[in-house]
Amino acid sequence: MHCNYFNHKQVKRLDFEETKEPLTEEQAVEEAARCIQCEKPKCVKGCPAAVDCKEFIRLVAERDFDAALGKIMEKNPFPSITSRVCPTQVQCEGNCVLSKTGKEIKISDLERFAAENGKVEEKEIVENGKKAAVVGGGPAGLATALELREKGFAVSVFEAGERAGGLPLWGIPHYKLPAGVVESWVSRVKEKGVEFVFGKKVGKDVMLPELQKEFDVVFICIGENKEKGLGLQGEELQGVLYWNEFLQKFNGSSGSFKGKKAVVIGGGNTAMDCARVAVRLGYEVIVAYRKTRDFMPCYESEREKAEEEGVKFEFLLSPIEFLGNGRLEKVRFQKARIEKEQFIATQETVEMEADAAIIAIGQQQDNSVLNETELQGKWIEASSFSMPLKRTFAAGDITNEEKTVVSSIASAKKAVREMEKLGGEGK
Ligand SMILES: Cc1cc2nc3c(=O)[nH]c(=O)nc-3n(C[C@H](O)[C@H](O)[C@H](O)COP(=O)(O)OP(=O)(O)OC[C@H]3O[C@@H](n4cnc5c(N)ncnc54)[C@H](O)[C@@H]3O)c2cc1C
Ligand code: SF4
Repeated sequence: MHCNYFNHKQVKRLDFEETKEPLTEEQAVEEAARCIQCEKPKCVKGCPAAVDCKEFIRLVAERDFDAALGKIMEKNPFPSITSRVCPTQVQCEGNCVLSKTGKEIKISDLERFAAENGKVEEKEIVENGKKAAVVGGGPAGLATALELREKGFAVSVFEAGERAGGLPLWGIPHYKLPAGVVESWVSRVKEKGVEFVFGKKVGKDVMLPELQKEFDVVFICIGENKEKGLGLQGEELQGVLYWNEFLQKFNGSSGSFKGKKAVVIGGGNTAMDCARVAVRLGYEVIVAYRKTRDFMPCYESEREKAEEEGVKFEFLLSPIEFLGNGRLEKVRFQKARIEKEQFIATQETVEMEADAAIIAIGQQQDNSVLNETELQGKWIEASSFSMPLKRTFAAGDITNEEKTVVSSIASAKKAVREMEKLGGEGK
């Protein structure tokens, strides 16, 4: 059955300018003064990096912005980034006691204010004569490199791409996090004396055993950037893109697809980001999800923002084929129905015309980093931050259950602590 799904109007033309305004000094001090300085601050518990929110907020209220920034950076070296991207509604702000009244302290805005208005003294580095290799230049790699450098290691970061920053640089949409913010923190890591080797994919251009020989310790921080495919007929057609290809090409670029139709397949936060980026390129966008609205794994606020921007949602649809002659023309879906709270595939199919289909159904790590090691490219559980390989540790999305920037940063500190505990040897 062919249905005309695309007959809605986009609310307004959007661009990639950052959407959130910073606080002024007066607003920041006033906001910080609202904090009741709880005896047992739940906001701290809600932060995966355990930033002492209560104390830094107190320091902002006292206009000691340098000390406030210093307090944050004891636990989190990249506050300009986290203050823009943390899902605070389920972290510090969601846990703030005042959230019960809907008047939680705007902790992320205060963190950003401190990051932009405070200064910290750089720690003096005492060289320890040891060498560390970090594989991957995303938040986990950058935080690990910084932590190791501050402990006196000579650090080299091996990054497969041509720039450091990882997903925050190319994946997180620029209207949330401008690329310049990430680049300025990469520069800060470079200024500390960390060396970057770009265009070297470990497991392909350089082998892990070579790094294990040359360096005293190796940290694997490769993230989960590999797409999950659907394995459907027509997936190779021009116009069918995975989330990572799409964002790498189009995040931040100016639109030239006005009037064209894009279908985003998936219901998570990455699908919402792809949909909102596609809107900014000028596409009419439909998100097609296999279950119902209530089962969408994305944050409600992300879905609402997508809706406000004109994204339309269609539920109970699973793609079964991409149709076209060289180029995508239609996506065929199988419909599902709900019976006793179960989703049951029906015999009914529908076709949706589309110039682009963006597949955003999940991501995984690329095991090729382990080629030529004892593990022969086979992944292992790394949640303890130490790998079953000599002097090799791991941090970031590949170790974390909660896959966020701040958790990646927090895991870097934990991985370095684990390395110290094991005397640099690994398991
Ligand atoms: C679309 C999208 C939006 C997101 N939005 C948010 C958000 O708003 N807030 C939030 O907190 N989190 C968000 N996340 C999650 C967040 O980006 C990740 O949790 C975080 O970036 C993980 O950091 P990482 O350093 O482990 O990995 P990554 O950021 O993925 O960095 C890994 C780096 O390693 C490099 N690399 C990979 N393999 C190799 C190799 N073999 N050799 C050398 N280099 C290699 C990659 O090129 C990359 O630069 C989002 C994720 C996605 C996909
Ligand atoms: S929970 Fe809220 S009110 Fe209490 S210390 Fe933290 S920010 Fe302040």
